[in-house]
Amino acid sequence: MTDVTSDPRHRPLGEILSPKTAEPFVKAFGIHTVGDLLEHLPRRYLRRGELTDLRDLRPGEHATVSVDVTGLNSRYLQHRRLNLLEVSARSGQEEMRLSFFSRRKLTWKLEVGKPAMFSGKVEVFRDKLQMTNPEVDTEGLGEDFADTLVPIYPATAKLESKNIGKAIGVALDMVGPLPDPLPPALRKTYGLMGIDDAYRQVHRPVDAAQAKAARERLKWDEALVLQVALAQRRLAAERAPAVPRSPREDGLLSAFDDSLPFTLTAGQLRVGRQISADLVRSFPMQRLLQGEVGSGKTVVALRAMLTVVDSGGQAALLAPTEVLATQHLRSLRRLLGDLAEAGTLGAAAAATNVVLLTGSQPMAARRKALLAAADGSAGIVVGTHALLTENVQFADLGLVVVDEQHRFGVEQRDLLRERAEAAGRNPPHLLVMTATPIPRTVAMTVFGDLETSTLTELPAGRTPIRSHVAPTRLQYRMWERVREEVAAGHQAFVVCPRIGEKASEDDEPGYRVDEDGAAKRPPLAVVDVVPRLEGGPLAGLSLDVLHGRLTAEEKDEAMARFVRGETAVLIATTMVEVGVDVPNATVIVILDADRFGISQLHQLRGRVGRGTAASWCFLATDADEGSPVHQRIEAVAGTLDGATLARLDLKTRREGDILGAAQSGRRRSLRLLNLLTDEPLLVNARAEAETLVRSDPELEGQPLLAAAVEDRIGEQRAAYLEKA
Ligand code: ADP
Ligand code: MG
Repeated sequence: MTDVTSDPRHRPLGEILSPKTAEPFVKAFGIHTVGDLLEHLPRRYLRRGELTDLRDLRPGEHATVSVDVTGLNSRYLQHRRLNLLEVSARSGQEEMRLSFFSRRKLTWKLEVGKPAMFSGKVEVFRDKLQMTNPEVDTEGLGEDFADTLVPIYPATAKLESKNIGKAIGVALDMVGPLPDPLPPALRKTYGLMGIDDAYRQVHRPVDAAQAKAARERLKWDEALVLQVALAQRRLAAERAPAVPRSPREDGLLSAFDDSLPFTLTAGQLRVGRQISADLVRSFPMQRLLQGEVGSGKTVVALRAMLTVVDSGGQAALLAPTEVLATQHLRSLRRLLGDLAEAGTLGAAAAATNVVLLTGSQPMAARRKALLAAADGSAGIVVGTHALLTENVQFADLGLVVVDEQHRFGVEQRDLLRERAEAAGRNPPHLLVMTATPIPRTVAMTVFGDLETSTLTELPAGRTPIRSHVAPTRLQYRMWERVREEVAAGHQAFVVCPRIGEKASEDDEPGYRVDEDGAAKRPPLAVVDVVPRLEGGPLAGLSLDVLHGRLTAEEKDEAMARFVRGETAVLIATTMVEVGVDVPNATVIVILDADRFGISQLHQLRGRVGRGTAASWCFLATDADEGSPVHQRIEAVAGTLDGATLARLDLKTRREGDILGAAQSGRRRSLRLLNLLTDEPLLVNARAEAETLVRSDPELEGQPLLAAAVEDRIGEQRAAYLEKA
């Protein structure tokens, strides 16, 4: 058997480099061990003599370029007492300048007409790319070396790519053959090279094909470790006990179904059946419900909760914000009518109670709600995620529904289970709901331990939302439309990227900072927009504001007035992004739409079109036509299909945004896998992991793989605890 502890990857880096040389690696990249170092992979490779495309350089980044020297000019700067050497260089049509300042005389082996490599921070000076005092490398640029690939590593000013390459070279020379965590049979099936070759070839490839094959092999390590961890979770979940919950014939659920003012869609019924089938099993349901914005997830969740109440248990509904929790309380009570009024005169026989529990509610109300949760008189408790962490007591919590939370990660799910175990109870069934369509690869990674259901159709009778990109010159027409809708008795949202009136510009999450094509001014703010609209295009209409700096009570009142129809136009931040359900609102104006991401725009748009009346969405922007940001907005205006937009979003966002907080730390969980292009590999890895774990749950026959999985879980835990 292989001894895991002797794996050279676990050796501290300071042991093979000097501790002093190892130090910058920790500081810059959190690299502590030989393994960490070997996993610091080249960003790309430069062929010596092959010139860099200077158009790819971004100001501010640290880069290594290979260019032809076209001019040398040295001067002495009398007033600064410095030698200045100015090097002009070119690659194809593009030119750049390299400036060296020094007290000593500069003696680089640079020659006009010869290639050279420079590493440094990319700057723009007088419209021209330049570097100041870059590192110079003219070694090996002769013809003999024309064919070697130079790895270019993610680097910093203090830790140059070249030095990282050197350290990796030392490590590779010093450590013996690395033991392989992938089972040989699997390697054979997929034609993968051994791990030792993979590291050597990814860092010192002979040619591009070799580098690619090495990377492919390393991707497999990443995918398999991830999928094994998920397969183990699925297996553990199946082995955990849970209380089966079945509805009563003449209970709440059937009374509720009889009272519904509309017919459920085929999708709602189908998902309902899947959920009931899960709930009667003796291990906890772990289901993800994806549903297009406005597809009616709340009713599906409510029916699941009623099933549990019918069986004598309780359900908790968790929303991402207090505003949303309060909204849910109202809509659940409205949907349930007298079925939510147990204990009052004239309540239905099967009735229960729905209570709200939030951090900012008045003490007396909170105490009452806590009591109702603890003595079981509240069948449904609505709150925010704080419900989980605050250790609220339930008489018999049978189901937790998490709304609009595609970032309800593995750690939160663990917490839920651990809480139950600590209290000596069985873990509750779990239903996670999201309106952000999740591409298959994301479902297989982030939610790989959940089963998924999807609601694709919208309830009958909806008119598709009409979306328009509104450039500044046409915005008067947009405001006219708002006035017309209000005149017809409808309501409108106006969304701004910022609250405003504060030094910090990033007071509300969710808007993007400067991008190519975006307007060169601070994003519009609620507090600035309100007076402009009041005194201008929306004069005479009743306006109200909603944003994160209001107190919980103020937010609540603003939302309640809007729900009651007392406010015509609600001017808000992305606070209204998810979940807000006011079917009478028929127009949404998103100002500075270029500051939002694709999924966000789609979510915001979903605040309208929730009733039978026709609805409008205006994406207002000053962005240059044809620019990438403008194209992004046009894409949103061009389709109402969330799945299409989700795929597009995956292309334009960094994966960390999608994977959520726990995964987006400095040492990310997905280093090599690309959720857009690696679907076949992920599918294979998932199948292999499932087979491995079913036959050997603890991976006793695969100690190295088991250790790699442990490492990964430990790393994630650490990242999560750091955030918490
Ligand atoms: P989401 O899936 O975005 O959370 P909601 O659950 O808030 O959507 O539902 C959107 C609106 O559609 C709500 O006003 C809800 O009452 C209504 N609704 C839900 N199901 C149906 C249905 N089958 N027929 C008609 N309206 C429905
Ligand atoms: Mg919802």
